[in-house]
This record gives sequence, structure tokens and C-alpha cells, in this order.
Amino acid sequence: MKRVMVLNRGEIANRIISSIKSMGLLAIAVYSDPDRNSLAVKSADLSYPLGGESSTESYLNLEKIREAIQATKADAVHPGYGFLSERSDLIELCDELDVVFIGPGKEAILKMGDKIESKQLMEKGGVPVVPGFFMDGLTPEKIVEKVEEIGLPVMVKAAAGGGGKGMRKVDQLKDLQSDIESCQREAKNSFGDERIFIEKYIENPRHIEIQVFGDSHGNIMHLNERECSIQRRNQKIVEEAPSCVLSSQKREEMGKAAILAAQLVSYQSAGTVEFIYTPEDEFYFLEMNTRLQVEHPVTEESLGVDLVQEQIRVARGEELSFQDLVPEAHSMECRLYAEAPLENYQPSCGKILKLVWPRSKDWLRIDKGVEEGDEVTPFYDPMIAKVITKGKTRVQAIERMIQALEELVLFGVTTNQGFLLHLLRQPAFQEGRLSTHFLDQHGVLDGYRNRLASAQDEGLATGLAGCFLASRTSGSIHNSPYSIQGLNAGKKEQS
Ligand code: ADP
Ligand code: ADP
Ligand code: MG
Repeated sequence: MKRVMVLNRGEIANRIISSIKSMGLLAIAVYSDPDRNSLAVKSADLSYPLGGESSTESYLNLEKIREAIQATKADAVHPGYGFLSERSDLIELCDELDVVFIGPGKEAILKMGDKIESKQLMEKGGVPVVPGFFMDGLTPEKIVEKVEEIGLPVMVKAAAGGGGKGMRKVDQLKDLQSDIESCQREAKNSFGDERIFIEKYIENPRHIEIQVFGDSHGNIMHLNERECSIQRRNQKIVEEAPSCVLSSQKREEMGKAAILAAQLVSYQSAGTVEFIYTPEDEFYFLEMNTRLQVEHPVTEESLGVDLVQEQIRVARGEELSFQDLVPEAHSMECRLYAEAPLENYQPSCGKILKLVWPRSKDWLRIDKGVEEGDEVTPFYDPMIAKVITKGKTRVQAIERMIQALEELVLFGVTTNQGFLLHLLRQPAFQEGRLSTHFLDQHGVLDGYRNRLASAQDEGLATGLAGCFLASRTSGSIHNSPYSIQGLNAGKKEQS
């Protein structure tokens, strides 16, 4: 393996390219028209235009990708996350072109990509799953009976769901039928597959997942957990490793369950077994993501490993190289999005006019998708960067995250920077009292709205001065991000 093509864009393309280059291999980027001047294109050794603007025309276009592989003589591909990462037809294309797919086998992807099939498989194999049932062939009366058995509320979920889409909480029996129908409709529209199932709704849970890794010699290990309980719309925004709620005994138990899950599909490469964790310290399998996860850096920073390098080694047929991994640090990640939290987290498009990253530190890692002057377009996920910190303790990792986000200066598009800061400052967050409903339970959005309103009154003048300074002394200034954020977010969100 010498020439590795990255079939993705944004921060994850950059991140993968850097590991490819660090191993002395040639990194090849592919890009759509709007991405022609992207960081990924600049950092790759070679790049190939897929053409088109939308994902379907470019990063999801298998014919274009075939062309790119042949034209650049790539001998391996890395899919990153999202896009084609969990598509068995990409693996078929790789087989046909005799190119290595850096990821798991086709069978594992197919089995785990279907939430119904994977749940059945896990249940049979002895991995704890959320109590629930599959609806095929059941009469409406039987469904009601089974729901009453489980007890309300329940969650209606699409077999093919992903990215927080295709699930609905049902609180009352009278809504059950209409919720089932609307979930089926959404599943059909978003995933082209209307199969759904019902499971118990776990109240006040945490989301804790285990990173697993397998090689082609039958070895499978786990690399501890990540806690991803801070979510908006069932999508993660802040993640950390380790979780402050797990005892070492629980960690061991969950690790064993995750390894068992991976063994049931003979898993190779990096994967993640997601669990929902109850206030009573029980855990249930949610799904397995058969790819590198967005939040993989907190595992890397906590354990001092490079998961992409290991994926490449394993894809070359080598044995797992990780040994005696001991957590060196507590690591935290914040996803910086071009979005307006106060407008229902709506993506915010436009040109990034000013962007000053925090000064570099040995405890700070920023996985960047953009640079100053880049455009955030409506075509793709609006994530701008991931800010990752580490510390001796969780508290230190949080303090450092606050410091880093305070130093960051970005305007031109609305971001969630100020919202993240507000969230990180919540006492309950700092004390580690987390749940997937944290934002609602602690009125974080309302608090942010109020804070923004008062910051705007006093901050407008400093904000303007800050912008002016930032434009003159890029890289070395301290600024009030509240005023900067207040300035740009306020303008946008008032309109
Ligand atoms: P993770 O736990 O890694 O965030 P998700 O399943 O939520 O896992 O999705 C990972 C990434 O893949 C998302 O950030 C998103 O960019 C992309 N993604 C997932 N599902 C979809 C989808 N249905 N359509 C487009 N992108 C998706
Ligand atoms: P996706 O494929 O979209 O990532 P998941 O099944 O992993 O879907 O669930 C995403 C999130 O939705 C979880 O992290 C959790 O917050 C919430 N969730 C999923 N299933 C349940 C459930 N049974 N009870 C409560 N919350 C749930
Ligand atoms: Mg999930």
C-alpha cells in the first residue's frame, strides 16, 4: 500500500491525510467544485476533482470515485465518517478495482447498518439490548399490547436511521399510531427504507460508547469509553474520555460486551459500540458504528494513540499494535458548528471573514475543516472544526477548553462558540451530572439567550474594537469571544 485516497472532505479529510503522510504514504484527496481550494486539497500530495456541488454529485458518486481511483492509481481508500463510510457498494467497487478498503468487512457493515438485524444478532449473542420488539406482521392491537407490556414512553425508530434522524418518542397511547406512521414516512424519505421498530424509552440516560478495534488475525480489543451525553437533536456536540460516571468494574463489563458485539460480526478495523446508560448503572446496546467516529480524537488524546495509523496497519494485514494502554489524560472535544443555536441550530452559511485559532499548546488539538476566507456552503455538514483539549483531570480539560474557545475569533458566519462556552460554564456540567437531555434540563439555550442579550448591550463596543484588533494582529490577541459572538450571532439572530 503506497497511495491512499481519502473519500471525504472537511476536518476528517485533513485529519486522515496527516496520518497517511506521517506513515510515509502518498495522500490523495478528492474534491467537489466548492471544495477546490480546501485545506484538504492543499495538504494532500495529490488531488482529483470529482466535480459537482452536492454530495450526491461528488463525494457520494461512485462512478466519479471509480474514475478518481483509476486516474490516480490509488491502491487504498479511507472513507472517513458519513458519506460512503458505511456503504457496502463502495467495498464492492474496491474489490472490483483491487484496492484496499481501510475499514471493516462488508458483512459487518451490512449487519450493523440495519438496526433491526443488529439488535437481533446482539440479543442472540448475549449483549444486553434495550427492551423492545420488531413490528413486522403485528396487528395494531398486538402492537398496543406489546407497548403496554414495555411501558410508556417508548421510542419508535427506523431500522436504517442515523445522524439522530428517524426516531420519535411516544408518550401516550393515543399518539402511537400517528407516530408510527410519521416515523415510517420519515424513514422512507430519508433512508429509502420504511422498516421501524419500537423500544423502551430510557429516561434520563447517558450515552456511553466503547471504541473497539479488530485485526485480520482474529484479535479484537477495546480502547475504553467515550461519553457523548451532551447532544442536541440526538446528535452529539461535546464528547469526552473517560466518562466520569464509570467505575473500573463497569468499564470492564461494558468493554467485554463491546468486544462480544464486535466478535459477533468478526469485526476488523476501528468501530464503536454505542450504549445507552441508565441512572441505575445499567447499559444497553444501541447500535454499532462501523467506521471511524467523529469523536475519535478524545480516545486518541486520552490514550496517546493514532487510530487512523492503526487502521492503515490493520488494513495492510498487520496485527494490532496497541499494548498496555493506560489513560494518560482526560480529554474533551467540542464540535464547532456554523449554526445558530437560537434559531433551532439552523446552519449558517457564508464567508468566514476572520478566523484566528487559539495559540498552540501541548494540551490543545484542533482538527480543522476550514481556514480564513473559506465559504461555509449549504451543500455539506456545517461543522467548522473540532476543538480538543486534555488535562490531568476533567476539570482541567474543561478549563482549558474554555480558554481555547475564548481565544478563538471567528466571524462572518454565526457559530455555536458562545453557546459552547455557556454550556461549559454550567455548574452541573462541571460536576459531571450529565444526561442526553442536559440542554433541556438545565435551560441552557434560554440561559444563553439571556446572556447574549446582556452581553450585546455592554459588548457591542468592545466587540467592534475586538474585530478591529483581530483584523490587524492576527494570532496574538486576547479577545472577548462573548462580544464577538454577540456581535455576529446577535445580528443574525435578531433578523
Ligand atoms: P457520530 O456518533 O460519529 O456523530 P452519526 O451517525 O451521528 O455518528 O454521524 C456521523 C457523521 O456522519 C455525522 O456528523 C454526519 O456528518 C454524517 N451522517 C450521518 N448520517 C448521515 C445522513 N443520514 N446523511 C448525511 N450525513 C450523515
Ligand atoms: P443514530 O443512529 O441516529 O446515532 P442511536 O440509536 O445511536 O441513533 O441514538 C442516538 C441518540 O438518541 C442516543 O444517543 C440517545 O440520546 C437517543 N436515544 C436512542 N435510543 C433511545 C432510547 N431507547 N431511549 C432514550 N434515548 C434514546
Ligand atoms: Mg448513534
